[in-house]
Amino acid sequence: AAAAEEPISPPVQVRHTQLLINGKFVDAASGKTFPTLDPRTGEEIARVAEGDAEDINRAVAAARKAFDEGPWPRMTAYERSRILLRFADLIDKHNDEIAALETWDNGKPYEQAAQIEVPMVARLMRYYAGWVDKIHGLVVPADGPHHVQVLYEPIGVAGQIIPWNFPLLMFAWKVGPALACGNTVVLKTAEQTPLSALYVAKLMHEAGLPDGVLNIVSGFGPTAGAALASHMDVDKVAFTGSTDTGKIIMELSARSNLKPVTLELGGKSPFIIMDDADVDHAVELAHFALFFNQGQCCCAGSRTFVHERVYEEFVEKSKARAERRVVGDPFRKGVEQGPQIDDEQFNKILGYIKSGVESQANLVTGGARLGDKGYYIKPTIFSDVQDGMKIAQEEIFGPVQSILKFNDLNEVIKRANASRYGLAAGVFTNNLNTANTLTRALKAGTVWVNCFDIFDAAIPFGGYKMSGIGREKGVDSLKGYLQTKAVVTPIKDAAW
Ligand code: ADP
Repeated sequence: AAAAEEPISPPVQVRHTQLLINGKFVDAASGKTFPTLDPRTGEEIARVAEGDAEDINRAVAAARKAFDEGPWPRMTAYERSRILLRFADLIDKHNDEIAALETWDNGKPYEQAAQIEVPMVARLMRYYAGWVDKIHGLVVPADGPHHVQVLYEPIGVAGQIIPWNFPLLMFAWKVGPALACGNTVVLKTAEQTPLSALYVAKLMHEAGLPDGVLNIVSGFGPTAGAALASHMDVDKVAFTGSTDTGKIIMELSARSNLKPVTLELGGKSPFIIMDDADVDHAVELAHFALFFNQGQCCCAGSRTFVHERVYEEFVEKSKARAERRVVGDPFRKGVEQGPQIDDEQFNKILGYIKSGVESQANLVTGGARLGDKGYYIKPTIFSDVQDGMKIAQEEIFGPVQSILKFNDLNEVIKRANASRYGLAAGVFTNNLNTANTLTRALKAGTVWVNCFDIFDAAIPFGGYKMSGIGREKGVDSLKGYLQTKAVVTPIKDAAW
């Protein structure tokens, strides 16, 4: 792991720091602002308007009006689709600037943002643009002389609350399907990463989005977030974040107007490596599954189960791989890992590392911060991890790989499933029967076989158990943003 060097100047300016309500950038009603910080240094990038309940009220009123009276749900599907397509083109046009803003605010490698994530946002928008004019109803048979139609209508005003680990991708997963279905939106960004959503929301207006259809409120969870989830005039809430906060969101929804919820929550995903595996390939995939995005992925392969026959070799090669991982300023070329998002996460991760050592897991490599500035953590591996240890049960959300040994397929299925989470799983084997057994036995919303973190626009993503409710991406994501209406008409003089 390279040492963190002096930070490079980001090749981008901050253009927008106000709230975006009813198509206009405005200050918070309270006039308050909060700083957003550069994870490379902990220094302030900019001060951003701090929205609270009153701003949520203003934003919801705008979204309500845009839904009830505005052109958006009444436009032809083709017109709405064209706006989303134009937005995708503008994302492409400003790709590098958007990626730089994302890296600056979040700390993720610029190459990852510019080559994978921002292009994925454009891809997702084109995918949803493709759905707009293909959302249609059914005619269903009735027992009597009735003509029965099933209509799929937008729900209304969607409240959306997103996290900081993939600020723009989460924006796209939420806003794409909501707008494709004809809803209007109030989106609250994470307090750590407010910048990129403001930038692209402006582009969406340039693409022709009518005022009030998409409103962006920066601010904190217990104030702005809670006001959105409990608002009586919000018809649906979609949330991505921790399981604990997900429970709060569901409770706030229930206590207010019983708005339906979509939740994408935490995980402790198993990555299972069988003894027939090509060890070098398995090491690389398991490394990627855990360390990608500084380990800040809800679906991270954070329990690496390795068959005892390849265990020693696997641990040794994983150590070498982790020690080769290039950690440093995310704007630098070739950097694989930047800083963690903020001091809270940084300290939490170091706390888990301490807990791993205290519970007598074997610290193979890493285990400390890197450098003395910013939130860099050395790629860390524990081997001989036991199921009951805290590091094997709780979501660490950092660059800490836990390796566990197993010797039997049925045993590993039981252990992999013995978690309150069920977001994703990875399976590494060349044996078709083993793969088929595992893919059916694992209780997870996604099972990646001989791959990991494949996120095409059309693949549904979401959790079993306490990893969530509902699915995002793919056709499944549309269900969360549509109401079903049955229309029944008598057929007079049925002649057949
Ligand atoms: P993390 O711990 O990773 O920051 P959270 O689940 O707390 O994850 O945050 C995800 C999103 O949820 C953020 O936008 C945050 O502001 C928001 N949030 C946090 N607490 C609440 C809350 N009580 N009500 C509504 N939103 C919240």
